[in-house]
Amino acid sequence: MVNLLLAEPRGFCAGVCRAVMIVKDALQKYGAPVYVRHEIVHNRHVIQELEEMGAIFINELNEADISRPLIFSAHGVSVAVERQAQEKGFSVIIDATCPLVDKVHRQIRKYAANKMNIVVIGKAEHPEIIGTVGQLNDISKVQIIKSVEDVDTLPFPIDEPIGFVTQTTLSVDETQEISMALRQRYPQLSSFKNDDICFATTNRQAAVKKIAEQSEVVIVVGSKNSSNSRQLREVALKAGAKSAYLIDDVSELPWEVLDTAENIGISAGASAPEHLVAELVGTLNLRYDNIKIHHVIIAKENVKFKD
Ligand code: SF4
Repeated sequence: MVNLLLAEPRGFCAGVCRAVMIVKDALQKYGAPVYVRHEIVHNRHVIQELEEMGAIFINELNEADISRPLIFSAHGVSVAVERQAQEKGFSVIIDATCPLVDKVHRQIRKYAANKMNIVVIGKAEHPEIIGTVGQLNDISKVQIIKSVEDVDTLPFPIDEPIGFVTQTTLSVDETQEISMALRQRYPQLSSFKNDDICFATTNRQAAVKKIAEQSEVVIVVGSKNSSNSRQLREVALKAGAKSAYLIDDVSELPWEVLDTAENIGISAGASAPEHLVAELVGTLNLRYDNIKIHHVIIAKENVKFKD
């Protein structure tokens, strides 16, 4: 018998649902094409579907026709990009930034207004961090770090006011270690919350941990450029799965590993649509005679963001 352990929650989070809906609504309201700066969410299948409907994904604003609507992705954008879009005179500008990323933007602006030194925990090249740091005109008091070791390299004096924000999709455990190291070096941070990792990232990591403890192999559905999907694979490995794979869809399934497994864990990143998971379960069902499905539920998510 092959046991399939399905992590719950998995897949689309409230911020991704909202962002994808914003693009679909814009296509319906304004017709095609609509321009989206950066991939609306990091998933190949979502992007492909929206492209087929008439969305055009761009990296720079000068790739777009200003007479058409422009949408900012769920990861958020810098103030400079917002300003540039206004100055160029786009007919319609729609912001699909996740409200939880917006919250981090407000926080970093507040630190800057209070003239504090600011530590940003995250990956400097990720669009969310570029947008977060880009909330400030002056970044001379900002340092981006991504490891416990980086804490020792921070140039900020201990007696100056300091605050920190984090990327929303990091590893919960690793980020806690970094924030603890920060608190040790800067004791005045002790009253700060641990991180800005969102509920969706936290829940998906907790659920994948649970299935990984009972699985030889864990399959995470998601794209390679999705930060939260990559984290799920890492978390699964750390939690005890012998192997873990991040796949865009069933065409990438590692059959040589699956064929010898009795317990297969399944999850999906916050940007991966559920139909890909259904297709995965259906494919495994066809291949193996005796499959038993177990739903491993660690939380129910009822969060919905308004447009
Ligand atoms: S992963 Fe979290 S921060 Fe990112 S879009 Fe989803 S809810 Fe928002």
